[in-house]
Amino acid sequence: MPINNDGIMIILSSPSGAGKTTLVNLLSKLDNFEISISHTTRQPRQNEIPNKDYYFTDEKEFKRLIGNSEFLEYAKVFNNLYGTTRTPVIDKLNKGKDVLFDIDWQGADQIKNNKLDYKLITFFILPPSKEVLFERLSNRHMKDKLIVEERMKQFERDVLHWINYDYVIINDDLNKCYEKILKLIKAEKNDDSKDYDLEFIRNHVEKLTS
Ligand code: ADP
Ligand code: 5GP
Repeated sequence: MPINNDGIMIILSSPSGAGKTTLVNLLSKLDNFEISISHTTRQPRQNEIPNKDYYFTDEKEFKRLIGNSEFLEYAKVFNNLYGTTRTPVIDKLNKGKDVLFDIDWQGADQIKNNKLDYKLITFFILPPSKEVLFERLSNRHMKDKLIVEERMKQFERDVLHWINYDYVIINDDLNKCYEKILKLIKAEKNDDSKDYDLEFIRNHVEKLTS
């Protein structure tokens, strides 16, 4: 049974390229934070390490895990399947570890709807502008202009989900963004007042989508 010393769940989502993986990796260096490693059917990128960045699996294995009800959440993203298995997450939380999730809005919705007995904080990361997002995606996928185009198109749809998150953070300066997230996590844990300006975020989203 969950008790008060349990860890908390922290979800970071964003349109692709806004910087959530970078932020999750930074946060995971802190004491007591651990990343939930997802399963995916997509091919590893050059710099990715199997069983650390993802459990890379084929579709057959992924479907077997679905059939065994092993996923806390799963979704199709950019034509590949991604999912979070339940047992490792619950084990970490029961040991008092805070678990970081780098998952999309579909997964975040499912975890929210599961209403687990653990505190949940959700963050949506946005780029400072579409131009900066294009630059970041182009740097990450230097050889594949099609991927960049596809992800810029998807941005228009993904950004609309900002409204379902506890906090939306603009990732302009990486360190400032990281500090903001950390401050909000601490404030949530200690039930302190939160430094957060929803109107500013609303205006930023309007600029990004106009
Ligand atoms: P996501 O996980 O949201 O798709 P990544 O974390 O992979 O995004 O970041 C996309 C690219 O942008 C990476 O090359 C990363 O190094 C870079 N990046 C992330 N945050 C910043 C930032 N604040 N300033 C400049 N580059 C950044
Ligand atoms: P990428 O292929 O760039 O690593 O990830 C593509 C998208 O899939 C990102 O939005 C990422 O957050 C999301 N994602 C990664 N793992 C999971 C997961 O386990 N579940 C869900 N729902 N989305 C995931």
